[in-house]
Amino acid sequence: MRIGQGYDAHALSGGLPLILGGVNIPWHSGLLGHSDADVLTHAVIDALLGAAALGDIGRLFPDTDARYKDVCSLRLLSLVSALLGGYEVLNIDSTVTAQEPKLAPYGREMCENIASSLGVRASQVNVKFTTEEGLGFTGAGLGIAASAVALLRERL
Ligand code: MG
Repeated sequence: MRIGQGYDAHALSGGLPLILGGVNIPWHSGLLGHSDADVLTHAVIDALLGAAALGDIGRLFPDTDARYKDVCSLRLLSLVSALLGGYEVLNIDSTVTAQEPKLAPYGREMCENIASSLGVRASQVNVKFTTEEGLGFTGAGLGIAASAVALLRERL
């Protein structure tokens, strides 16, 4: 078995779509990035790549590559899934750190999106939500951060 961890953060900016775990969340601000800036999916991708010793998201999908401009990060997750050929995903756990908006109502859909992009059951994916109690850049509403761990098992 192999474990990996991932972390990502993106800045919030007014008028952009807020996409987390592939869910478009109604909110006055969204995340800035070259892709759709889905910070949760990016953390999950890095956890998987870390577990498989395949580098990181920036190496695979550079933000200088026009092919990945505004790309749906769930699509990148599917591409990563295909690279994990020798491994199966046992489970993923993750945390989104955001002061606002309330994200818990969207958690189930996020788990389902991530799981279906990976071809696993939704019960193998967990997404948690927290705030930093007003502290730091997430607390000030300047950005959203996400972290994830993934456990893989070598296919026999
Ligand atoms: Mg990112």
